[in-house]
Amino acid sequence: MVDAFGRIATDLRVSVTDRCNLRCTYCMPPEGLDWIPGDELLSADELVRVVRLAVAEGVTEVRFTGGEPLVRPDLEAIIAGAAGLSPAPSISLTTNGIGLTKRAESLRAAGLTRINVSLDTLDRERFTSLTRRDRLADVLDGIEAAKAAGLHPVKINTVPMRGVNDDEVVSLVRWAIDSGVHLRFIEQMPLDAQHAWSRQEMVKADEILAQLASAFTLEPAAEVRGSDPAERWTVTSLDGAATGVVGVIGSVTRPFCAACDRVRLTSDGQLRNCLFSQTETDLRTPLRNGASDEEVVVLMRECLAAKKAGHGIDEPTFLPPLRPMSAIGG
Ligand code: SF4
Repeated sequence: MVDAFGRIATDLRVSVTDRCNLRCTYCMPPEGLDWIPGDELLSADELVRVVRLAVAEGVTEVRFTGGEPLVRPDLEAIIAGAAGLSPAPSISLTTNGIGLTKRAESLRAAGLTRINVSLDTLDRERFTSLTRRDRLADVLDGIEAAKAAGLHPVKINTVPMRGVNDDEVVSLVRWAIDSGVHLRFIEQMPLDAQHAWSRQEMVKADEILAQLASAFTLEPAAEVRGSDPAERWTVTSLDGAATGVVGVIGSVTRPFCAACDRVRLTSDGQLRNCLFSQTETDLRTPLRNGASDEEVVVLMRECLAAKKAGHGIDEPTFLPPLRPMSAIGG
């Protein structure tokens, strides 16, 4: 699956649900959203069929997302189906971490190899206010469970937000080094359901690096970046006692669209060639109407061929996606 700019899709993001057990203020209103009806969600078999076709088309990495993917009880079966393909793709998961204490082992046994946990603060009151749920302890326990299950390295995704958690950049890194997890700071993107994002308010990659430089010496990590969106830095405390690796993802100010290798499948079976795409390719209808593998693959190729050069957030014509992040998948 190749686009007009020569980029080849090798990384498939699969949203398995739009539902979530948190209500993060930057993602959705307190009452939640109009969830996708259950009969419109792809079944485990349908999801695995699309993954199989994508793998045959060159996809080598499959990341399961939501909403919150752990709210789906058949996630292990979906992962096992994907992991059992030949050639087997690398399987990863992005989660808020709640529920990992019970399922990290079974997910690992199903074929999961890597995990990213979203965590924006280590302060319980702040976590409760940000997510509208008092679940910080569950998330931290989930991270420990993932480590114990051998999902190494556990990556932590943190979105610094002005006046909310941007004073925790240094303390989060210290915690990550102590905990043996890899922290990645991600610039906030205009993906909230309330359309409240503002470029002026966004905490930029440069600001994050300046904060880090106040407490650590920073060296660019010696490795090829490729299509990895994270610029990785080796950070060492000023007394030289602690060292670790931190990623900074400048999604807005340092876009990596020119090297994008991603394609997304929503939980209701719509293929998206970009996070910010204004259009989707309906795979669910043909899947349920008896389309052959070849017919579905043609649709997938056509979808990717129409991919734009980038997200265009800085262009005057930019429009946020019609669906919120929880429905698109991270
Ligand atoms: S914004 Fe679109 S083109 Fe850019 S990296 Fe994300 S998915 Fe790829």
